[in-house]
Amino acid sequence: MSRIQWRLRELPKTISQTVRFRWQYGKQCIRSLTYNHHMNQSYASDVCMEPIFWFVDNFTHLLGPFFVFAVICLTTAVVVICYWIGLPYWWNRNRYMTVFLMTVGHWLLLNVAYNFYMAASTSPGYPPEKELIAEAVSICKKCISPKPPRTHHCSVCNRCVLKMDHHCPWLNNCVGYNNHRYFFLYMLYTSIGTLFIIAFGFELGYGVLFLDEGGWKEVEPLQGHPVRFNLSGHIIPVTEMNDYESDGMAPAKHDLPVPQAHPRPETLRGVILFMALINVATLFALGSLTAWHSTLITRGETSIEAHINKSETKRLAALDKVYRNPYDFGPRQNWQLFLGLTRKRTWWRHVLLPSSHKPEGNGLTWFTYEQTTDAGDEWP
Ligand SMILES: [Zn+2]
Ligand SMILES: [Zn+2]
Repeated sequence: MSRIQWRLRELPKTISQTVRFRWQYGKQCIRSLTYNHHMNQSYASDVCMEPIFWFVDNFTHLLGPFFVFAVICLTTAVVVICYWIGLPYWWNRNRYMTVFLMTVGHWLLLNVAYNFYMAASTSPGYPPEKELIAEAVSICKKCISPKPPRTHHCSVCNRCVLKMDHHCPWLNNCVGYNNHRYFFLYMLYTSIGTLFIIAFGFELGYGVLFLDEGGWKEVEPLQGHPVRFNLSGHIIPVTEMNDYESDGMAPAKHDLPVPQAHPRPETLRGVILFMALINVATLFALGSLTAWHSTLITRGETSIEAHINKSETKRLAALDKVYRNPYDFGPRQNWQLFLGLTRKRTWWRHVLLPSSHKPEGNGLTWFTYEQTTDAGDEWP
């Protein structure tokens, strides 16, 4: 076989073979150029997601102030509408009930405003810089600095955060060691607040949206022609719009309660619709988030640790071992630690009312369930 003949035998003959050949050749070419010993699926997906991460990291930071402004505006609008529409409605119905609702409403508002302000303005806590951290357990690859336990790097803030939970765009702040309690209480009180507005505004809203303006509906709509009685008691039809006034009789007067002056029906409808949408949406969003964070607190973990603990449980289960979260001291103590109900603090003073008490410890050292017995006086 001559050399040319051999070559012809090796080369693809049909179009499909040519295409396959080119495809295989191109694939080998790209593989040989991009070969990396550490390459795996998660690394590849990380690289592909990089533009999205970049977008979130950069724009969350820029959009943060607008989000905070939106929260303040929406909350203010809801409170103003409660005063404008809800207060006169309840005052006309029952004055004692109004006093009770005003007390509860203001207590909720105080807690919502205080915890939002504190969650947004309190620094979550950062590891000390340019200092030796004895507690450090690892090195942050992005800060190139020591990382204490439970500390994680926030790519939006671009620094390490103590006991980091997540970066919250609505607060334009990281949620971590110092402000986790404020964040949780803000969500809890806002959920209760929206539930409160829905419960005590339901009848009013239902009346406006589904019946008519005053919440009154004709059970059997009137039919026929308008009539009036003449002096001899006979019914005579009213044929003209001004018939009543033109017959020389004084206009009828009554002592029935005059309906309160409401805004125009279409304005009222719009306002009620706004209230219904915003309160129901907030209740669903923050209510489910509060429930989720409550489970995490009960288990003694943060949002980030929930992922870590889940994968650790899986990894150790494969090795026939049982994983235990080192910061889980049992539901009761986990809640006490989270709410700072240690050192003789009480729930009615430090949870039901605004309180600026600091969380237990320094955010760098963390007791684990194994150490609590020999912690002595340090353990709360
Ligand atoms: Zn870092
Ligand atoms: Zn952050």
